[in-house]
Amino acid sequence: MTIQQLPDHLVNQIAAGEVVERPVSVVKELVENALDAGAQSVVVSLEQGGKDLIRVTDDGVGIPVAELALALQRHATSKITSLDDLEQVETMGFRGEALPSIASVARLDLASRHADDPHAWSVRVRQGTISEPEPHALQQGTRVEVADLFYNTPARRKFLRAERTEFNHVDGVLRRFALGRFDVTFVLEHNGRVVARYDAADDETSRERRLRAALGDEFTAHALSIDEQRGDLSLGGWVAEPRFNRAQADRQFLFVNGRAVRDRIAAHAVRQAFQDVLFHGRHPAFVLYLGVPPSLVDVNVHPQKTEVRFRDGRAVHDFLFSSLHRALADSGTGAGAPRPG
Ligand code: ADP
Ligand code: MG
Repeated sequence: MTIQQLPDHLVNQIAAGEVVERPVSVVKELVENALDAGAQSVVVSLEQGGKDLIRVTDDGVGIPVAELALALQRHATSKITSLDDLEQVETMGFRGEALPSIASVARLDLASRHADDPHAWSVRVRQGTISEPEPHALQQGTRVEVADLFYNTPARRKFLRAERTEFNHVDGVLRRFALGRFDVTFVLEHNGRVVARYDAADDETSRERRLRAALGDEFTAHALSIDEQRGDLSLGGWVAEPRFNRAQADRQFLFVNGRAVRDRIAAHAVRQAFQDVLFHGRHPAFVLYLGVPPSLVDVNVHPQKTEVRFRDGRAVHDFLFSSLHRALADSGTGAGAPRPG
């Protein structure tokens, strides 16, 4: 074999292996783009659990017609321009690979209207080829349609599960976005029906309604609120009273600077805070918002951006543990026995 540079389309398909696993991964990337575009409202529509169609419509800033094709190119992003930017990044995206990856494993249509353009334009990507822009009727913002996911990679299409399973994953990720951004309205439609609606919340009553919509009445009624600050770290959110623990770790949401992540250090700190008040094998329910100066946390750890690395993991651990431990103690729910060391 001779060494050859791979064609772009194939490079994108390979990259898609890391970013696009199933419909929910597409939804996650498209909703992140909508949020980065400053959307106040994001509508996600699925057909057949997203296997046939995923459509995400937002009312964000839109993409100028001159940049539509560029948005679909690999490593093309409006979000960072330097390594310095990467170290301070506050947008959800920055890798510039979601759209080209998705477009390489599905049929993708992109329509957008930027304020500087008199009307919207749309382009289509088919087998790596981007069409010329055509006028489109969209009023404001951006709409991305992703049809027939993995139609050209049958081996991967086979890994998709039942419609209900794929739908449930999307439902879960929308719940997470709804908890991450109370200021944005999210709507989920499935096979033509609205199945979840989270209206933007800006006061105590609407915030509570939102929490209830995302996590249910029981959690909302028994949530202890957290509001802590130590140096440049902050922690907000809610933990359910220990007696409202769960058999599964399915009500655990951690946001670091607004980004939903899974993190071992944080998980350990939470577990330890609940250690004295939960039976072995039971799981606490919580929604926590950790604020860390962007320069002290690396978000470029994983292609799906679901992991972070803290510069000072120890400080984060101590802060989380002591904040939660104190909240549980103050609530008088049986926690708070003095701990050694
Ligand atoms: P990234 O989000 O990492 O920049 P993407 O491939 O997801 O990479 O998107 C590429 C670019 O396309 C973005 O940087 C942004 O400029 C533009 N874009 C994508 N989706 C939207 C959207 N919904 N609204 C406005 N611009 C968008
Ligand atoms: Mg993106």
